[in-house]
Amino acid sequence: AKENQVFLNLDLEQWESHDITYQIFEDILLKPEFSDYSHVGIVVQAYLKHSEKDLERLLALAKRRGAPIGVRLVKGAYWDYELVKARQNGFECPVWTQKSESDIHFERLSRFLLDNIDYFQPAFGSHNLRSLSQAMVYANAKRIPKSAYEIQMLYGMAEPERKVLRARGHRVRVYAPIGELLPGMSYLVRRLLENTSNSGFLKLSHQDDVDPNQLLREPQLEKNSTTLKMPEGAPFDNCPLLDFTKMENRERFQKAVDDWVPKFPAKVPVVIAGEEQSGEHVFERMTPNDGKTAVAEVQLASVGQAEQAVQTAVTAYPEWREKPIKERADLLNKLADILERDRFELAALMCHESGKPWAVADADLGEAVDFCRYYACQALEELAPRKQGNVWGESNILSYEGRGPALVIAPWNFPLAILCGMTAAALVTGNSVIMKPAETSSLIAKELFDRILEAGCPSDVCQFLPGEGSKVGAYLVEHPQIAQIVFTGSKKVGLEIVEKAAKVQKDQPQVKRVVCEMGGKNAIIIDDDADLDEAVSGVVSSAFDFAGQKCSAASRVLVHENIYERFKTRLLDACKSVIVDVATSPSCVLPPVIDETAQKRLLDEIEMARKEHQLLFQGQVPADGFFVPVSVFEVQNERCRLMQHEMFGPVLGVMKVKDFDEALKIAGSTQFALTGAVFSRSPENLMRARQAFRVGNLYLNQGSAGAMVNRQPFGGFGMSGIGTKAGGPGYLMHFVDPRCVTENTQRRGFTPDLE
Ligand code: NAD
Repeated sequence: AKENQVFLNLDLEQWESHDITYQIFEDILLKPEFSDYSHVGIVVQAYLKHSEKDLERLLALAKRRGAPIGVRLVKGAYWDYELVKARQNGFECPVWTQKSESDIHFERLSRFLLDNIDYFQPAFGSHNLRSLSQAMVYANAKRIPKSAYEIQMLYGMAEPERKVLRARGHRVRVYAPIGELLPGMSYLVRRLLENTSNSGFLKLSHQDDVDPNQLLREPQLEKNSTTLKMPEGAPFDNCPLLDFTKMENRERFQKAVDDWVPKFPAKVPVVIAGEEQSGEHVFERMTPNDGKTAVAEVQLASVGQAEQAVQTAVTAYPEWREKPIKERADLLNKLADILERDRFELAALMCHESGKPWAVADADLGEAVDFCRYYACQALEELAPRKQGNVWGESNILSYEGRGPALVIAPWNFPLAILCGMTAAALVTGNSVIMKPAETSSLIAKELFDRILEAGCPSDVCQFLPGEGSKVGAYLVEHPQIAQIVFTGSKKVGLEIVEKAAKVQKDQPQVKRVVCEMGGKNAIIIDDDADLDEAVSGVVSSAFDFAGQKCSAASRVLVHENIYERFKTRLLDACKSVIVDVATSPSCVLPPVIDETAQKRLLDEIEMARKEHQLLFQGQVPADGFFVPVSVFEVQNERCRLMQHEMFGPVLGVMKVKDFDEALKIAGSTQFALTGAVFSRSPENLMRARQAFRVGNLYLNQGSAGAMVNRQPFGGFGMSGIGTKAGGPGYLMHFVDPRCVTENTQRRGFTPDLE
């Protein structure tokens, strides 16, 4: 731009890219080669609570570099988006919630620009004549020439206003999108909607004939504004995720990642009745990031230790069962507080041990916190003894109580959240627990276990038994005194557990109950009118986040033939942008897979698929670490292995379908029924999907992964699970025996109800 003497303006869009945009702008402008170039500008959005600080920062920058900066002052175009996103993520809302606050700030910021006219080239971008006039009047009073600032309007949006301003000698820059027709049109439509909204100046003045005096009066805060009330939180609110757009959070996270390094390899003992013990073997867990640094030395429990843990759990159970529900719920709330207190440390550990990228690890922690708080709320509500029936002379009280020792068998892919959720549910309902984490994620499991005890759980009520699934896991599943098994993992192991648990052993006191959540083969349907921006990014994140190692990950995409080629081109382009890196690096999108066995298995699967299907895309991966490249195949037949078998890696099958019906049919053609998604703008097809796309969690116009506790109770049916919904109503009922006590309250000649 400088070589050609072109004016370059940096636009601002969503708040999430605000900081980085300003940072880049500042970095570039401070380079000596650009320090005197004045044909550069940036946007300030008056609807941001941060906008005054933005201007102060720009002023300091202009003074430092010694040349003025163009500032395009606007109100901002993503108001509802920002509001909704902030609420969804639990972040502080970055925009003013009253429209008039944005107007007030626009005026204040205008004056700031004009007060510092030596350092700024202001451009007032608005169609609101009040907002523009106050700036012009103020400039006039300060004897600032009209040539020192400009007015900006959108092409075709406010022609009469533009003409008046031109006639009065103002510089009016009209701007218009250029480039492709359709994106340009959609931009114009968006602006049109915004400018013709009920509260917009153009509609009020041109359409509603509002009194000009009212339109032109100074904007004022509405005292009893009904414009917006943020929805109330409590009794349950999701734990806000970390806002990584904040430098402070990035720095703290990096420090937490670094702080772990000297502690490796950390020791993970067996813990029975509070006593740390060695196991019969030691398993050395390598980080998947390089495949050779040991992060943990895990003591693998023996069968004898498993037996000891069961006996402890059997003895501890009755007293724990009798505790008031409130006391057990308090334990969960305390645990949630502790997990939040240590969130950086725990999430950073998952980057090392499980290869979870920063934000994915943080979300894992957030979900663990959510499970604790949610089950605490649910226990108080759902497990409270209640009266049944409504007749005289009889009292009926229904209550719930724990069932006995619960064996919790967890997978490695949500190493904190799932283990925590299953354990918390079992504890709050009055069961003693034996935690059997996955071998590869034993260290984070131990960190959780320590915090469960710190929160006040008696050491005989919860015990920690790292070990081999096929050995101690299998032994415990068949143990007659285990009352229930809470399992999340693969279909193969899950079905084996269901079968073994069904067999009654000698001296077994009760029928075992199994809560069993298994795998998926999740499909995303792309309809012919889908918004491709959203569809492509939804597919890429659902398929490749955490290297496709989520049970909810998408592994099949079914694309309407009318849009197939366009979708395919864009999908493959997007695949190129997936950044492959170690999970400890903040730029990582595609981390390594969990271990060498998984890596080898996936590479074999990819080799096999290559023989049968056309490979559309394959990414590059580093030689060190257990990386598997993003691999996208074009598939002709939905019955093939690639479209039926859960791969659990970054492998995606893309298939062309002739219409929405065929897409639905193919989506439902596997034995799994866990998650699914549809991108479509047809209300009719979305409605059909609600009915006919039968999976535990269906997402319309968003990706297939990322369930939040309470908002999206999670779990599948078919061969994906028994149909329980973790993080949803009714889940705790799996962990209790209901009891009803009926008393005849009538005594001869006396019925209390009639008194
Ligand atoms: P996995 O089945 O290999 O192991 C899960 C757990 O079972 C581990 O703790 C393991 O040690 C133990 N185990 C293994 N063999 C056992 C046996 N014979 N008896 C008792 N326990 C045994 O699964 P994984 O590789 O850890 O996890 C990935 C799988 O989990 C995927 O299939 C994924 O879809 C599924 N998953 C499902 C959900 C869900 O909510 N539906 C969530 C996460 C993961």
